[in-house]
Amino acid sequence: MKKVATRLFTFSVSLCFLSASFYNFALDSDDGKYNKLQIHYINLGQGGSTLIVGPDGTTVLYDFGVKQGKSGLVDYLDSVLGGNKTINYAILSHRDKDHFVGYKDLIEAGYNITVANYEPDGPPKDSPLYVDNWTNITPKTRAGIARSIPVGLTIALGNGASILVAAANGKIFDGTSVKVSNENDRSISLFLDYRNFQYVLDGDLGGGEETCSGHETSQMDVQTEVAKALLNAEKIDDENGVEVFHVAHHGSESSTPARYVSRLNPEVGLISVGNPNCSYRHPRKDVVSMLLNKSSGDDEVCSKVTPLIHVFQTDYGSEKCSNETVGRETDNSGIISGDIILSTDGQTEYNIKTTGMLWVKGRKVKKAESQTFSMKMDKNKDV
Ligand SMILES: [Zn+2]
Repeated sequence: MKKVATRLFTFSVSLCFLSASFYNFALDSDDGKYNKLQIHYINLGQGGSTLIVGPDGTTVLYDFGVKQGKSGLVDYLDSVLGGNKTINYAILSHRDKDHFVGYKDLIEAGYNITVANYEPDGPPKDSPLYVDNWTNITPKTRAGIARSIPVGLTIALGNGASILVAAANGKIFDGTSVKVSNENDRSISLFLDYRNFQYVLDGDLGGGEETCSGHETSQMDVQTEVAKALLNAEKIDDENGVEVFHVAHHGSESSTPARYVSRLNPEVGLISVGNPNCSYRHPRKDVVSMLLNKSSGDDEVCSKVTPLIHVFQTDYGSEKCSNETVGRETDNSGIISGDIILSTDGQTEYNIKTTGMLWVKGRKVKKAESQTFSMKMDKNKDV
């Protein structure tokens, strides 16, 4: 309970109306040498894309969404990067279309990948969509053909910030593994560490079945094994956990079991979801309810989850669907955000801004409130 009480008093909210210069938020630093770490959780509908900009300017683009053309990934990156069309690392979480299709648009718009194009190890995929938008495009970049990402690889982001490749294709950085066959479970899991700030990003990685929350899935529980490895390696500590985590697989019940969340112990959850997705019915009610502690279940495992302070979702997800069915209900009690932009100095606080830019008839328009959230870090451990 101590942590719950702390959480309630460690954030503040301000509402603001944002101008066209929204993305160019200040990148000031204490010593003039390093900037803040930025995470752009971009609203591209169902698949999403995440741009990480390190304190030294290193750029990592994780997934590319399925949208193309006006208002898609290219427009967003143009506005953030101000004409610099260089991305250092491109990482495809797994080989499903909602994650890779936007890559071709990016390269054809003049963007170049300079260091590496990575994907998870796994059986080759030869669907025309995959080949046309990824396999045949990566060789056109300076980084060249996509390679299997090495599990355990560390990508330096400057000023002590780094990304650890925590898992891919069921292999975990501590040498353990989970046997996987579902493409989602091959998802690359990244662990970002910047002093007091920790973040996990893991595509559509599975969390297995769970009776206390009613999760039903054929996906394996790779997520909990990743969390255990991070705890065992003292990448995170069990009292304070991580600050922010990706609610995997668009809030599907195939992921995010309570046993995983209770180990990761996040303060903020981010969900990438498109509107509408009536066939998938994301995000699932039991997932969001568990994160925000709205469930009535009294199972001991589920009750160990400390309620998150906020859950943000990029769009409404399943809305106005005619096929609502018992056990597959959706939930839109997360903050409807549009693009979600996080920045932190890694020391005392992290800030989250939402643009309110939602998809309407194939275009992104200002449809939700823009908000700014200032979150204090739990503790100062290394600074
Ligand atoms: Zn997906």
